[in-house]
Amino acid sequence: MVDLLIKNGFVYDPLNKINGEIMDIAVKDGKIVERVDGKRLKKIDARGMMVMPGGVDLHSHIAGAKVNMGRLLRPEDHYKDVEPKTAKTRSGVGHSVPSTFTTGYRYAKMGWTTVMDPAMPPLKARHTHEELNDTPIIDKGTYPLLGDSWKVLETLRDGRIEDCAAYVAWELSVTKGYAIKIVNPGGLEAWGFGRNVRDINDPVPNFNIAPREILRGLCKVNRLLHLPHTIHVHTNNLGKPGNLENTMKTMQCVEDLANDGKPAIHITHCQFSAFAGNDWRTFESGAEKIARYVNRHSHVTLDMGQVIFADTTTMTADGPFQFILYQLSGNKWINGDVEAETSSGIVPFNYKRSSYVHSMQWSIAQELALLVEDPWKIYLSTDHPNAGPFTAYPRIIAWLMSRKAREKTMEKINRKTKSKSLLTSIDREFTPYEIAVASRAGQAKALGLKNKGHLGIGADADIAVYDLNPEKTDLSKNPRMIRRAFKRAAYTIKDGRVVVKNGEIVEVVAGRTIWVDVDTGKPLSETISALRENFGTYYTVQYENYQVPENQIAVSAPMHVRADA
Ligand SMILES: [Zn+2]
Repeated sequence: MVDLLIKNGFVYDPLNKINGEIMDIAVKDGKIVERVDGKRLKKIDARGMMVMPGGVDLHSHIAGAKVNMGRLLRPEDHYKDVEPKTAKTRSGVGHSVPSTFTTGYRYAKMGWTTVMDPAMPPLKARHTHEELNDTPIIDKGTYPLLGDSWKVLETLRDGRIEDCAAYVAWELSVTKGYAIKIVNPGGLEAWGFGRNVRDINDPVPNFNIAPREILRGLCKVNRLLHLPHTIHVHTNNLGKPGNLENTMKTMQCVEDLANDGKPAIHITHCQFSAFAGNDWRTFESGAEKIARYVNRHSHVTLDMGQVIFADTTTMTADGPFQFILYQLSGNKWINGDVEAETSSGIVPFNYKRSSYVHSMQWSIAQELALLVEDPWKIYLSTDHPNAGPFTAYPRIIAWLMSRKAREKTMEKINRKTKSKSLLTSIDREFTPYEIAVASRAGQAKALGLKNKGHLGIGADADIAVYDLNPEKTDLSKNPRMIRRAFKRAAYTIKDGRVVVKNGEIVEVVAGRTIWVDVDTGKPLSETISALRENFGTYYTVQYENYQVPENQIAVSAPMHVRADA
């Protein structure tokens, strides 16, 4: 492998507090090093360009059973967006649910190098990993859905936190998962009986436990196991007017579990959980209240869930929410139940500028990002493909960096939204440094990925170079240039190899699958054999067919952590 020297770029590396300094970045054997010299050296002239760590996405539905059902449900999503085969790449299709190969290429073209799929039913782990294996270039991981697992509900109801922790450790290793995902805690189990839970205090049918106890229990488990990321939470009542109050309660309910000022909970695609009002007619933004809370507390992180005005595909484990969306839209839909674990649903959805609700949703996500003062607390996302496809990130970056870009969009949206949106009163514009936090450094930090999201010595050489000159261009006045630059990275470097040049794939590498292997410090084998013995009382499949052996992961990258003994 040749060494690389990226010369004279404006470097934005927030984890190392580097803010646009003109510097060289040296790369050897896939890692960032202090210096390189010698014959096998390739120089990249980044003069007048921005150099950032490779993009990191902690929430994007890119693989697994429901993603694939989304592909099957929507032929119309594909035939308008076809990627022909090239000398380097395979053919594929987009638009909102791209094929696996296309997903990897499109992220890389934008300069993104690490992406987490946030919703894997443990029972569907094999399928998820088969698709992740087929997703090239990017490093990836996936979060098992554990908030409605019967084993979790039983152990937490009985106050057996340590048994729950052993179970979670086991699930992470058996499914090769990365973090604890909780979706509408308790609500998915209730949905099995055609019901839902009303808020975090509403008991789950048949289990005599409330969502609050699930959240607190799994938050404690997360701490016991020293997992790299916090619990990753999709709140109850997501997508419903007035859900703001329950979102506040969700953040508050783990306030006392914050660990030395470190985050204890991540509220994902917060836009969908920041609705004020009593019904769709009185629907309003709740962003201000949430931002005020997050500004005053250090135990919460958020991601945006930015709505894009486009035809997209919603897909989530939140089966009851998807049923509501089906009723609202009348579109074709799929709903599913995964035995003893979770539910799911898929509904195509078109976000329209002319709709008051949709354009308010667009505004709410922007308001959240701009009103939360610390960019380390809120990250770029569209909850791909729920609020829009990830390929819209350059557009979101332009909105965040340019008031002019926001105003331009405001001119075209629903008139009532214009009078209700807080955006007209917000002047803030993100700097390139803040963009680097929201789209890479902050996300890597939240995920506990020590070698990602920065350009310090020893970091993985995942680097993006954008043809954007902050000295020559008044960026906020030129949102078009921002969009163009982030859409097609001048260079994307993955593990020290140039994989993208001028927005085109020039080399394809296989990314790693990162998963967490917990050493529980006590005989986990006992717990595992007990789980194996009882396996048949929970599942219709054999244990042997449930687990994902490590040799079925194309490039396995376990992260070893040690639990409290
Ligand atoms: Zn999601």
